Amino acid sequence: MSLLVVGTVAFDQIETPFGKTDKILGGAATFIGMAASMLNVKAGIVSVIGGDFPQEYLDLMKEKNIDLSGIETVKDGKTFFWSGRYHNDMNSRDTLATELNVLESFQPIVPEGWKKPDVLMLGNLHPLVQKSVLNQLEERPKLVVLDTMNFWMDLTWNELMDVLQDVDVLTINDEEARQMSKEYSLVKAAKKILTMGPKTLIIKKGEHGALLFQGNHVFFAPALPLEDIFDPTGAGDTFAGGFSGFLAKTQNYSFENMKRAIIYGSALASFTVEKFGTERLAELTDEELIERLDVFKSLTNFDIEID
Ligand code: AMP
Repeated sequence: MSLLVVGTVAFDQIETPFGKTDKILGGAATFIGMAASMLNVKAGIVSVIGGDFPQEYLDLMKEKNIDLSGIETVKDGKTFFWSGRYHNDMNSRDTLATELNVLESFQPIVPEGWKKPDVLMLGNLHPLVQKSVLNQLEERPKLVVLDTMNFWMDLTWNELMDVLQDVDVLTINDEEARQMSKEYSLVKAAKKILTMGPKTLIIKKGEHGALLFQGNHVFFAPALPLEDIFDPTGAGDTFAGGFSGFLAKTQNYSFENMKRAIIYGSALASFTVEKFGTERLAELTDEELIERLDVFKSLTNFDIEID
């Protein structure tokens, strides 16, 4: 039941209609690891931070039983920094800054003991870093999931297309699916993307839920209708962490089980958006998660007679 996660561990600065943060804990791998830790899988992160990264953030992740032995610290370097501003509808955002800093020359090293994970979650990062981690494994994981974003599509398209050849599940948002496929219809986009390597595709649609495509099968999971979405940052990564964590835990990689995994991912993501950054995930309890899974069940459960 092990999940190896690769991705950014970062400082984020976020502006929403509700307020503005200082530099706070963020990064794709952080959200993925914290979400997966709610599923009690053995999760380890491969990433890099600078000497400016606070010990209290590392302690928080350790408290969540995340293995940090794969996080390299560059003492005289600066941690990856991202800042974004959300529009009033909270569905779209502008990136104000992406400072790669220590990521620029990052050569990931998979620690001993992590070379045979059951599931590999290649979080949003340079596709060459994603590929390098995959290449260092001694056995191909039972499932490889990859997340990426427009930033890498714009800058490293060829490298991204190459790593996709080795991936089972791709998770991207609707805008990214359109950019990747050059198709507006998400169904057409999915068909095209499923010829690019991954056999399964998840398109995340923020507050409009997520679509799962595999062959001719399609499944849709709604997002929880919330009164207030406080900060959507990390929702996609939390979703990916819940999805891959659930599959690592259950060791069942069928389409039917992926449907359940998507519900876990959606339930966890619905917490992340309730507060800034990782704040809500950090305090989340098992009871709250179970309660919310129940809400999801009733949200989509209906009885209909078709004759
Ligand atoms: P999400 O809201 O799920 O798309 O993810 C937001 C997280 O992604 C933030 O915590 C950022 O630190 C991180 N992030 C932003 N831009 C990048 C990038 N170009 N590469 C990797 N991670 C990024």
